[in-house]
Amino acid sequence: MTIPHPSSHTLDPYDAFREELRQFAESECPPALKEVVRTNQKVTRNEYRIWQEKLFARGWGAPNWPVEYGGTGWDLQQRYLFEEVTAQADCPPQYHHGLGHIGPVIMHFGTPEQKARFLPRILDGSEWWCQGYSEPGAGSDLASLKTAAVRDGDHYVINGQKIWTSHAQEADMMYTLVRTSNEGRKQAGISLLLVPMDTPGIEVRPIPTIDHWHHVNEVFLNDVRVPCANLLGVEGEGWKCAKFLLDRERLSPATVPRLARLAEQVGELLRARGAGGSAPSASQHVLLERLYLAQAGVAGAREMLLSAIQEEMQGTLAASKSSALKLYCSDLSQQLIGIALDIAGPEYAARLVDTVAATGQEVASDADDSLRQLIHTYLFYRSRTIAGGTSEVQKNVIARDLFGA
Ligand SMILES: Cc1cc2nc3c(=O)[nH]c(=O)nc-3n(C[C@H](O)[C@H](O)[C@H](O)COP(=O)(O)OP(=O)(O)OC[C@H]3O[C@@H](n4cnc5c(N)ncnc54)[C@H](O)[C@@H]3O)c2cc1C
Repeated sequence: MTIPHPSSHTLDPYDAFREELRQFAESECPPALKEVVRTNQKVTRNEYRIWQEKLFARGWGAPNWPVEYGGTGWDLQQRYLFEEVTAQADCPPQYHHGLGHIGPVIMHFGTPEQKARFLPRILDGSEWWCQGYSEPGAGSDLASLKTAAVRDGDHYVINGQKIWTSHAQEADMMYTLVRTSNEGRKQAGISLLLVPMDTPGIEVRPIPTIDHWHHVNEVFLNDVRVPCANLLGVEGEGWKCAKFLLDRERLSPATVPRLARLAEQVGELLRARGAGGSAPSASQHVLLERLYLAQAGVAGAREMLLSAIQEEMQGTLAASKSSALKLYCSDLSQQLIGIALDIAGPEYAARLVDTVAATGQEVASDADDSLRQLIHTYLFYRSRTIAGGTSEVQKNVIARDLFGA
């Protein structure tokens, strides 16, 4: 069974479900929130919270969780439709570190107390998590991490440094991989700890980035004492939890629908700036051609995702396909936003760079100036081929699968 395109008029068993989603997205997502998303502004924690509360109240707080933990119990096709309809309606995405990442790991490895303590607050959006994995010297080669946790009575004492920790500045909790032993292979002595961010000894320092949106941070941990009850799973077997997370979440149904919406927006921008009219100029022809190619790419990515969803539901999905999707979509998002930047014209980018250089501070957000926000997004999307596993690492996975290398 295939999922019909939004423009398709074929009858499908999922049509009623799609209509239910559409009506909800139309009526329940506040217009001001849609405007933030439509104009590519950075979605704040409060804005994420507003949408999460709406979804939670409707019983749709966790599209990817089983019913027993308060999730919808939807299959992957339904989850895809949810993402497609909400992206089309300019609803915000859901904050993924709790719902998509650590939540399912807690369900699988957590004690009843941990499940009761952490899952409900992820579900209703009241508690935010960040991921403390990467370290200076341990990114792609994550198992080389050095941050150490030593047992002291009924606590672990953590010392070390994490880096690139998204949202650490506003998160309540961090799930973090630490070294509890140096014996054996490097994957062996790693444990997963759940750390309240207000624990004494934690220092969060922002990392300034080219887009001037504050996402990433360094997190320093100096004699941070965490109860042993916050160990997830078995001591020294944190790598299992980390792999479980990667395996479960490697196929995200969210990226392609957001890309499809971006492609539409870039088309709208091009039309608004004059191309596609009766006599487009030569450079506009080039932009149109690039846009058509990118749109074809989005259609291809959608087909790839839908077939991956079928395979995942049948338990036959190969890791290389998820990696190929990540590789392709990261590249496509950069292509699309690159076209948007070229439509805006070089003077726009130059203006932004000037502003950043002159003030050294956050560039004021201007809700009316969606072009400017697109340029922020352009700069932010440079990180797409790095975050969540670099493109080179995805290529390695694909090569291993294809050639057994
Ligand atoms: C915006 C952003 C948000 C992030 N958020 C988080 C977060 O919330 N939590 C977190 O823990 N981390 C986060 N990261 C970190 C991210 O996971 C790492 O940056 C990424 O895994 C790469 O690691 P690295 O930066 O140490 O680069 P390295 O691993 O040192 O790689 C440097 C270069 O070498 C290449 N390379 C490395 N190994 C190989 C190989 N075996 N074969 C071929 N080429 C290779 C890489 O592709 C890259 O080009 C974030 C990063 C970014 C940019």
